[in-house]
Amino acid sequence: MSAAMTSIALADRLRHIEGSPTLALAATAKALAKAGKPVLDFTAGEPDFPTPPAIKAAAIKAIEHNCTKYTPVAGILELRKAIANTLARRLGRPYADAEVMVTCGAKQALYNALQVLCNPGDEVVVLTPHWVSYEPLVLLAAAKPVFVETTEADGFQPDPAAVKRAITSKTKAIILNSPSNPTGAVIEESRLKELAAVLKGARSDESLFMISDEIYDQIVFPPARSYSIVQVDPTLIDRTILVNGVSKSYSMTGWRIGYAAGPQHVIDAMINLQSHSTSNPTSISQYAALEAITGDQREVQRMAEEFQRRRDALVGGLNGIPGLSCFNPQGAFYAWCNISGLKQPADTIASRWLEEAFIATVPGEGFGSRKHVRFSFATSRETIQEGVTRLTQWLHKP
Ligand code: PMP
Ligand code: GLU
Repeated sequence: MSAAMTSIALADRLRHIEGSPTLALAATAKALAKAGKPVLDFTAGEPDFPTPPAIKAAAIKAIEHNCTKYTPVAGILELRKAIANTLARRLGRPYADAEVMVTCGAKQALYNALQVLCNPGDEVVVLTPHWVSYEPLVLLAAAKPVFVETTEADGFQPDPAAVKRAITSKTKAIILNSPSNPTGAVIEESRLKELAAVLKGARSDESLFMISDEIYDQIVFPPARSYSIVQVDPTLIDRTILVNGVSKSYSMTGWRIGYAAGPQHVIDAMINLQSHSTSNPTSISQYAALEAITGDQREVQRMAEEFQRRRDALVGGLNGIPGLSCFNPQGAFYAWCNISGLKQPADTIASRWLEEAFIATVPGEGFGSRKHVRFSFATSRETIQEGVTRLTQWLHKP
């Protein structure tokens, strides 16, 4: 069938949506490695550690106890309660079970939130550089992304004045992501306070929401500390949808468990939507997530400390290579490497590194920059060392 014929059959709203570049590049790197190529994979936005044993054991137990049927759409009550308790402990404010829902990964929580909040033509403020899926998720909700730049010189901190200028009568939501994918910036408490003031100043009612994607909140490198917007300004609780999950902190990307917490009427609408799309998230994964959230947390700490050592090795190494400069991330597991010194756009550089040195990275274009390439340091220290060596050699090739 010709491309023209197939495009007629597809819905208009998919016209500007392409598949996730991060997932596609991770798949390419894996395929090359499988074909025997000496690929060093810096694409994957997922921890390389196995899921901790106690979590796996909880899933096996769930199967043995026949917890293999539909659950409530919003998740099993024990898990909703455990999430509510975790949030209450962290944020110093009680959450009701009904204000929490479990989703198939944090991605579905974001999808649900945008679908239920946005009308066609609404605007959603997205800070750049931004995670690759925010723009498609906003477009799929028939809304318009409005990008507000953050700069390297300002540590990729959001500029409250710029956010204020971006807010119009059509703005429905502002997406925050701290720690950030791809920069690793952690929004400072003082900036969050200023942002909260901007939001409240722009609209006093609940027609403007914050969507706070906190999926990396437990991967933070001291002395940095991650704060949630509702921690710095509890009055925003009625218009903030918190998004989080177990994928990154507990090395559970494949289990597909995320969650959203927010005003009950919004969560109710998200549950309704989910009841007609995926129904409940996988029952077995929910029991595993329950163990993750309520069990021993030392593994989380151990993994975060290892990410910090890898950050130091990768960022130190990249900064020693002429033409590259790297922001020092305070959280998550990404190094956002400025390649402007190489005088070629990021997608060209990333392709060349893959073809000429078998180094797989994600070019910055999908995140909103042609001048950066993202390296994930959720990979071994040997891979990091070898990667820095190969890049140094690549640069010195005639
Ligand atoms: N938000 C950000 C910033 C992410 O990097 C990811 C990674 N996939 C997600 C959300 C989605 O997480 P999940 O795998 O739980 O859907
Ligand atoms: N969030 C990860 C990344 O940015 C996983 C892939 C994805 O879901 O986009 O690489």
